[in-house]
Amino acid sequence: MFGRGITLIKLFGFEVKIDFSWLLLGLLITWTLAQGLFPHFYEGYQTLTYWLMGVAGALGLLVSIVFHELWHSLIARRFGLPMQGITLFIFGGVAEMTEEPSSPKVEFFMAVAGPISSVVLGLGLFGIVFLGDSLGWPQSVTGVINYLALLNLILAGFNLIPAFPLDGGRVLRSVLWGWKDNIRWATQLSSKIGGGFGIALIIIGLIEVITGNFVGGIWMFLIGMFIRGASQTAYKQLILRRSLEGEKVRRFMKSDTVTVPPSLSVEDLVEDYIYKHHYKMYPVVEEGKLIGCVTINQVKEIPKEERDKRKVAELAQSCSGKNTIGPDEDAMQALSIMRKNRASRLMVAEGDKLVGMISLKDMMGLLSLKIDLEE
Ligand SMILES: [Zn+2]
Repeated sequence: MFGRGITLIKLFGFEVKIDFSWLLLGLLITWTLAQGLFPHFYEGYQTLTYWLMGVAGALGLLVSIVFHELWHSLIARRFGLPMQGITLFIFGGVAEMTEEPSSPKVEFFMAVAGPISSVVLGLGLFGIVFLGDSLGWPQSVTGVINYLALLNLILAGFNLIPAFPLDGGRVLRSVLWGWKDNIRWATQLSSKIGGGFGIALIIIGLIEVITGNFVGGIWMFLIGMFIRGASQTAYKQLILRRSLEGEKVRRFMKSDTVTVPPSLSVEDLVEDYIYKHHYKMYPVVEEGKLIGCVTINQVKEIPKEERDKRKVAELAQSCSGKNTIGPDEDAMQALSIMRKNRASRLMVAEGDKLVGMISLKDMMGLLSLKIDLEE
């Protein structure tokens, strides 16, 4: 769901991206405000006015979320933590981290920065409403600001629920982490609480749907699913990171590799290799020298009737940092290359010699054994 958004602006060096799912949320909010909330509380305006108020409310929400995430990012950067940018998606926003916080202190300050900024913004907006009312501003203006003020306080409150990976859960994790100096235990416990909170939301959501509050119930259900998923992922990622730290590619690679010669016809590649070994990528080797690799995506581009005449050599993709890694490089690096290029296997090469293959499946297999034995 992440990463496919469009960049809105750059703020203090952080790219603010908006996922397409947020546009859906924006439309939903605009509609709810223009057709429901604002006409209910502020009577006597024209339809167009309500729609303008709705649009202003939705844009204000967007700014509020960016403001909140921006403070997370600014504080993180202050502590030397590299931040990728801010992405807005259907359940709010995320300040994307490329690394975990280095100490409980860093995590604590980074986590509380968001909710504190939202409370300050909310109170500031209430101040503006107060000022506007005393100056006789129209209710169509103060009404929207009042709504945004309240929304910022709700944003802070919701995020402070101690369910990892919400801000409150991060605060909880940092306190537990600082207390026992064990990030794994702290993450496990706060993720469990996060998962439990997610399940509670799912159940309440279902009850709401059954008792007639359909829209509200569905939202709770979806947010519950999201939090549950995110808390599980967060824990798994931590375990993965910890287990991969300092490990070399060599440890995970398999050296009995299936390779193909460049003179092989594409038809034989399909029949004798792809259908037999079920891999999506094959290193192309000629006289012990690694030339490149061929993937099923390239095979797909060759029409069936031409496959017996075409050779692997024509399709072979040369080796690059996208499909090849050295045996002494970090395993974490291999994982991030796979993730970035959506590849499940990488060639392990020393110079122009293929020494093995590393796959996500083998890495996971070894890691789960390791975790099993050490738990
Ligand atoms: Zn936050």
